[in-house]
Amino acid sequence: MYKRILLKISGEQLAGEYDSGLDPAKAKWLAEEVKKVIDQDCQVIIMVGGGNYLRGAQIAGHGIKRTTADHMGMMATMMNALGLTDIFEHEDIKTRCLSTIFAEQVAESFSHRLAEKHLENGRVVIVAGGSGRPYVTTDTAAAILALELGCDVIMKATKVDGVYDSDPAKNTDAKKFEKLSFQEAVENDKIKVMDKAALGMAMEQSMPIIIFELDKPGNIARAVSGEHVGTTIS
Ligand code: UDP
Repeated sequence: MYKRILLKISGEQLAGEYDSGLDPAKAKWLAEEVKKVIDQDCQVIIMVGGGNYLRGAQIAGHGIKRTTADHMGMMATMMNALGLTDIFEHEDIKTRCLSTIFAEQVAESFSHRLAEKHLENGRVVIVAGGSGRPYVTTDTAAAILALELGCDVIMKATKVDGVYDSDPAKNTDAKKFEKLSFQEAVENDKIKVMDKAALGMAMEQSMPIIIFELDKPGNIARAVSGEHVGTTIS
């Protein structure tokens, strides 16, 4: 039974039915899933991606510096975090958006103490801005944050129900890994489910990672109660 989890939700997942932007219906659905976890007295921190708007590495060039492109990516995560926070609150979940980039007018600034306070008061903390630094993604930001806030586990939501040796959407013979060691996950070039930087960081501090399918109802709550879900990297 986990007491505090870091949930990493990519921008792509938040786009739901759409090609880009935030799908409010998908966000509402996520709120309902998170509510089941809160009912288990588990504290939840959410790191949102921004890929439904843009990713820095893709937009850099033609005059846009990589650092600026990453700043734009961080803004994208901010848009998701703000929308998600409102939808969570609308669903009666006590939620706070904390931003790692200074944006006092739109969100409280992230600090370790403030995040702890909100979590201890039973609020879901949604983090905007990733790590607040360029050249990394929200996967790596999620790993840092999970360590900083002493989470029991990093849960990364994906489209498929875990890690496979090839793309199960393209290859019917694809084999699912129920468990993986950090070593295997880092060294196997075919495993692209999470940034190597994030994996390396989790490995160094023995922070387990669960890769699971978001769209299966009850999956997060099941994992929190100790049931095996998706693929565990430990
Ligand atoms: N980003 C960044 N630093 C961080 C987190 C994110 O610079 O700590 C930028 C980066 O450009 C990234 C973008 O924000 O591409 C959106 O995040 P990400 O690609 O992780 O989103 P996801 O693929 O999870 O939706």
